[in-house]
Amino acid sequence: MQRSLQGTKINTMTCLRLILGDQLNNKHSWFAKAERTRADIIYVLMEVRSETDYVVHHAQKVLGIFAAMRAFAQALRDAGLRVHYMKINDADNQQDFSANLQLLAKQYNAHSLERQEADEYRLETLLLTAARQLGLPVRVVDSEHFLMPRTELRARFSNKTNRMEYFYRDLRKRYNILLDTQGQPLGGQWNYDQANRKRWNGTPEAPQWYPLAEDLSALWQDIAHSGVTTMGDPMAERFPWPIKRSQAKAWLAHFCRNGLAHFGAFQDAMSTASGTLFHAGISFALNTKMLHPLEVINAALAEFNAGRVSLATIEGFVRQILGWREFVRAIYWARMPAYANSNFFHHTAALPRWYWDGNTKMHCLQRAIKQSLTGAYAHHIQRLMLTGNFALLAGCDPDAVDAWYLGIYIDAFEWVEMPNTRGMSQYADGGILGSKPYTSTAGYINKMSDYCKNCFYKASLRHGDGACPFNSLYWHFHARHAKVLQKNPRIGMTYMQWQKIADDEQQLILAQAEHYLTTIDQL
Ligand code: FAD
Ligand code: SF4
Repeated sequence: MQRSLQGTKINTMTCLRLILGDQLNNKHSWFAKAERTRADIIYVLMEVRSETDYVVHHAQKVLGIFAAMRAFAQALRDAGLRVHYMKINDADNQQDFSANLQLLAKQYNAHSLERQEADEYRLETLLLTAARQLGLPVRVVDSEHFLMPRTELRARFSNKTNRMEYFYRDLRKRYNILLDTQGQPLGGQWNYDQANRKRWNGTPEAPQWYPLAEDLSALWQDIAHSGVTTMGDPMAERFPWPIKRSQAKAWLAHFCRNGLAHFGAFQDAMSTASGTLFHAGISFALNTKMLHPLEVINAALAEFNAGRVSLATIEGFVRQILGWREFVRAIYWARMPAYANSNFFHHTAALPRWYWDGNTKMHCLQRAIKQSLTGAYAHHIQRLMLTGNFALLAGCDPDAVDAWYLGIYIDAFEWVEMPNTRGMSQYADGGILGSKPYTSTAGYINKMSDYCKNCFYKASLRHGDGACPFNSLYWHFHARHAKVLQKNPRIGMTYMQWQKIADDEQQLILAQAEHYLTTIDQL
């Protein structure tokens, strides 16, 4: 008879089942009824410094993941399952997966290890090494979360140009979503993006997200005392994100009732009055697998079927989850590990210092960055057309940009963060994910937001006193990369516009950009 670290009596050989912090899927077949009677299984969850330290994370991200893991472990225990949970400050915690697994394998007399596929290449590689070091048979199973198995996407995506639109249509057909009886898209169109690009002027009123205020101060003490470095406000006493499946489900229902109807129309809008507008705020619950993508889609479809949501809106929402979310994962797994080093424009600049505190005179960036530091959240257009757009125009190193996005957002896991950042936002992959770089002058930002009217800079000026940096940097970016971008048929118009600008004016714009690039920390 042996005794485990947590006091459970062990008299048989056991199988360790490792559950990662983003594998909190209680619908996984590991937890099906037949499995629950198996006394030889020990479910293992661990809070380790190797996960808190590979990048500087937002405090809410570390707190949210650990709190959700603890809640998940408790739910398994309540269901009668055997769980070994290692807290960040446990004395025997070796602070990495490999060393902890070796310890537990000995302690529990383990005959094998089972684990779900890791979504991050970094972790998958690390766990393969850990398994080798363990020297036990290892079984790797699907995480049963995504809508296309990883084996299928490798075959479909490697070395081929795939566009999201066709991938998305295929998945709509496969899952029979928003199709008529002939298998054609409802309403005759696959895409209603044109109807979904409105500016928001305060009406209809933007809803609050589902109100949560969990007291996680004890957990925050554990994290802080362990010496983990984080950024941003932990909000530990009134933690606003879901950490249990029941909360995630309530959050989703609240969004479907209160936000979804206007999601489509205002999905590209930005406003000083609301940093969340009609966005769902479900990415943390989805990415930790507390929610399943089909469950989210079905909840939204129920609103459409009840006549409370328009076709353009429901299509726009389904496209994000069935389309973009699955697509970026496909690109990631088909293209890693080379993808992580892509740097199409050979950009090398550091991120401006104000990315870390939001203290810039550029009102749009100030709002987006401060909001991210306070809430670990910015919506898609803030990420793409403000922080991402600026970093690209300023020639920032994609490694630095990646690290920033991977740290700051509560929903940031590499499989989804990297293709969005390096691919969609920085075009560092040279067009694998998107067909052109997402760049803009102040014109777009002014059209889609109210930021410019209260800004130190003037959206209408391209050079001179108070000229908006987005304007000159936009042209500087296109001028310095003309050789590679001019051939892109989707950007031809931009170069035609540039040619129409008089030579003198062009020189003033480029000189303005040069000045901004050398004084970037003071902008
Ligand atoms: P909503 O706007 O309400 O959309 C609903 C859901 O659709 C999201 O929860 C998300 O699951 C899915 N979705 C929408 N757009 C995308 C997309 N482009 N890629 C993948 N899923 C999408 N998303 C992450 O989940 N993690 C990240 O680390 C991340 N990093 C990003 C970095 C950059 C530079 C950019 C431009 C986008 C990034 N995104 C990331 C995508 C997107 O911005 C977030 O999914 C979204 O803002 C999450 O908020 P929400 O739940 O309110 O989304
Ligand atoms: Fe942003 Fe330029 Fe508008 Fe200021 S003027 S809010 S910097 S786009």
